[in-house]
Amino acid sequence: MSEHEVEREHEVEAVRSRLLLEYLEAIEAACPSCGYNLHRIKGAICPECAQRLTLRVELAQPKMGAFVFGLIGWSVGTGFHGILGLWGLWLNATNRGGPSLTEMWPVFVGLVIELPALLLWLRMSGWLRRQPAPARWGLGVGAWIVTAALSVLFFAVIR
Ligand SMILES: [Zn+2]
Repeated sequence: MSEHEVEREHEVEAVRSRLLLEYLEAIEAACPSCGYNLHRIKGAICPECAQRLTLRVELAQPKMGAFVFGLIGWSVGTGFHGILGLWGLWLNATNRGGPSLTEMWPVFVGLVIELPALLLWLRMSGWLRRQPAPARWGLGVGAWIVTAALSVLFFAVIR
């Protein structure tokens, strides 16, 4: 960081601290960590739990519902196929019988689809939040449909 950037950072921090104290002078707010009432505190540190406080811009309605819904769908699918895949590898490595790795192809197909979808979902969270509600929820439901279909495929093929 250049000397100018450091100076600028200090200025921003000073403005933040000043506005935080002004805000808490006028409005009652609880410490996000311990719940202590921060009304009229004198410094940007919680007097009860000694955590540093800062002022932030936050979304009034974060629109996280569809993202979390889809995230759970991909996570369930990745976990289901991941655990079954490890179980299959272990059975075959220790010669305990059960399906061979070739018979377990739906598990590996499931994992190859679910894991990249989960990672892509995490990467695209910002883009997803900018989409209209029907598109966001459509994609969230899609995650569960794909996960359900791949799980049904497993039970239909494995015997
Ligand atoms: Zn506190």
